[in-house]
Amino acid sequence: MNNLRCKKLISATTSLLLWATHVQAASCVHPLLGGTWSSSDIPVSYLFNPSGTPSGALSAIQSALATWATAPGSLIDVRYDGTTTDTATGLCGTDTKHVAFWGNRFNTPSSLAVALVCVDEAAQRITDADMEFNTTVSWATDGSGGVGSPYDIQSVALHEFGHWWGMDHPTTRESVMFNTYQGIRRSLGAVDEACIQTLYPGTRGGQNQTSQTTPSVNLGQNGPNPFRPRSSSDFTLIPFSLSQSAHVTIRIFNLDGELVKTLLDNDFAAGSYTTRWFGDNGNTGQTGESVASGVYLYHLKLSTGEERTKKLMLIR
Ligand SMILES: [Zn+2]
Repeated sequence: MNNLRCKKLISATTSLLLWATHVQAASCVHPLLGGTWSSSDIPVSYLFNPSGTPSGALSAIQSALATWATAPGSLIDVRYDGTTTDTATGLCGTDTKHVAFWGNRFNTPSSLAVALVCVDEAAQRITDADMEFNTTVSWATDGSGGVGSPYDIQSVALHEFGHWWGMDHPTTRESVMFNTYQGIRRSLGAVDEACIQTLYPGTRGGQNQTSQTTPSVNLGQNGPNPFRPRSSSDFTLIPFSLSQSAHVTIRIFNLDGELVKTLLDNDFAAGSYTTRWFGDNGNTGQTGESVASGVYLYHLKLSTGEERTKKLMLIR
């Protein structure tokens, strides 16, 4: 028997519709939805419906996804599969479309967005997830809203994607999964990182595991990957982090070892960062010509001599 159940999870409102029996995991302060993605479904594909969306919405959503996908110690990952006209018509169906869209079919007047997550309870497996952003709400991507309207797309998307991974609302405001909009909030809380590590433990991207000491630099897998730019304003995010300040150079090379672009060449303090590549060549900080489909290497080098290299795929 197909023991599927739909859940409507509402962000940023006092009303919360939830039909779940909560499960608690040891290292999660978050109640859980009772299922996770199977490892064979990771990276989770997602589609974007551009109909009626505010400008910049896709980039904001991609940035929110990259934040989850680059959380250390977690295998959760996502793959952008392009645009769609779908609006979750296959809700809790057997379709493999996981769509973010703007609409007013599932939202209530007091909700900003709804994550629609379907769980096969017997298998403790998430089988479908969609997300509807409320069309009757004002949205922004430039941080203009502060703690209220217009609401920050990236912050709300960061919360709703937490539901996609199987988390519900904890009572602590430390978490991006708190059930009320907390203003612009584009990075995860420590409790969120702990929970995603518990739900999807592992280390992504074949990072060098020969040393047990904390590396002074970490270069993450880019996202989305494969990178499918539809226009010259689409980008893929390359995450990196430093445990101490350093001069950092990140360059893109083709498989012949030829330099395509220097993305950055700057001093950075300890911390986590992302840089963007628009799939172009040319000078640092300027938009060059679009480069062809193919596999590219991105290479990080520190002033201390440490280097990291990863591959990305660009498909036009
Ligand atoms: Zn929520």
